[in-house]
Amino acid sequence: MYTLIHNIGQLLIVPPGPIAGPRMAEAVQIVEHATVVIEDDKIKWFGRESDLPPEFRNPPSAILNSAQSSVLSPQFFSSIIDARGGCVIPGLIDCHTHTVFAGTREHEFALRCAGKTYKEIARAGGGIRNTMQAVRAATKDQLIELARPRLRHMLQNGVTCVEIKSGYGLTPADELKMLNTLAELRSEGAAGFSPRVSPNPNHAGLPELVSTYLAAHTIPPEFTSRADEYLDQMFSDDMLKQVAATGAEFCDVFCENIAFSVEQSRRLFEKAKRFGLRPRVHADQITQMGASRLAGKVGAISADHLEKIDDAGLSAMKAAGTIAVLLPGSSFFLGVPQAPARRILDAGLPVAIATDFNPGSCMISSLPLVMSIACCQRKMTPLEVLVACTANAAAALNRHDRLGAVAVGHQADLVILATPNFDRFLYEIGQSLIQRVIRKGIVTFDGNTTQDILASHN
Ligand SMILES: [Zn+2]
Repeated sequence: MYTLIHNIGQLLIVPPGPIAGPRMAEAVQIVEHATVVIEDDKIKWFGRESDLPPEFRNPPSAILNSAQSSVLSPQFFSSIIDARGGCVIPGLIDCHTHTVFAGTREHEFALRCAGKTYKEIARAGGGIRNTMQAVRAATKDQLIELARPRLRHMLQNGVTCVEIKSGYGLTPADELKMLNTLAELRSEGAAGFSPRVSPNPNHAGLPELVSTYLAAHTIPPEFTSRADEYLDQMFSDDMLKQVAATGAEFCDVFCENIAFSVEQSRRLFEKAKRFGLRPRVHADQITQMGASRLAGKVGAISADHLEKIDDAGLSAMKAAGTIAVLLPGSSFFLGVPQAPARRILDAGLPVAIATDFNPGSCMISSLPLVMSIACCQRKMTPLEVLVACTANAAAALNRHDRLGAVAVGHQADLVILATPNFDRFLYEIGQSLIQRVIRKGIVTFDGNTTQDILASHN
């Protein structure tokens, strides 16, 4: 089955990741008046429309000159998509989120606006423990019903793959409930669209889901000053076997002075690795205590946050090939200084950007909004930000051989923007400028006012 996307104003050809800091922007090639040919769920050909090989022109002139699919080679292409002059990018990848949760924490938001810090609120019993109580009280089906519209919203913002962590259950049963919630949503969205959202595949999609075990998120109240006992329970052989059986691929630890020490984190990672769970770390967010160095030492696939990263951390991560995942939305939301993005890029690390969507420290689920924040507050260029949310985010999730790039043989996860170029997409902050989202070659979101949007942006 072949699909043609034509009338593309600009195609942003992002190569497969990981791509190191200094090369991120120059790695992207921009082709105008472009076309993409999809075979089943994979990219088969892309380039200038005038270079389209003869075997895909049937009849030759009709494809290029008409938008009426009845005229366009129905015997060859089963679907022809007119990009209406819009820009096409790889599907965006949100490689760090906490999207499965119950309850909201707007009262903490108000307290913070009144001057309290995240740490003060956490110490006063707020923070993660608040969400923990709501998640423990919810059933798996309730968690699914809460998460599905959030994921749908992410997809409508151009996100075709999302990583989600457990970490709000904090008992064996509740952590497994969270991971099983993820497993069920993952299979629901596996086909690229979800019949449970809508019977019309053009209006029903969920992103691909990646799950991470984050039992070491905080110490639950019943284990206060007995952290090691808690960890022994959550990282027993039996528990880790069950975690891996849910399809979890990674193990994350909040390595911070209000959570777990470097030594505790190291021990957990070594243990988790034996069950096939690759390490990723919440590192150097509030204090510098060597978490990014540890990330390098244990061969973590990513170290995330890095607001307080130091030179030793940068070199350890570089030596290990660890991806630096920045979360500019979280610093924005908390009103704290951003991670030193330019320093990390200049050090030669591949940088990814994610939302960190969670009910406490970043209630922002829009990756495009966070991408704009990275441009404005971290002085990253739009092309660097694009690579950070595609090729490098795919590498941070170990999916760079299949996702995050415009490359022959890569999965056909593509976003058609309602803007003629990519800069315009990030410049019009907070707008919904997504024309169509294609996952595995299928249109899983079709914006219905696109004609008008594009007309006003050309
Ligand atoms: Zn996080």
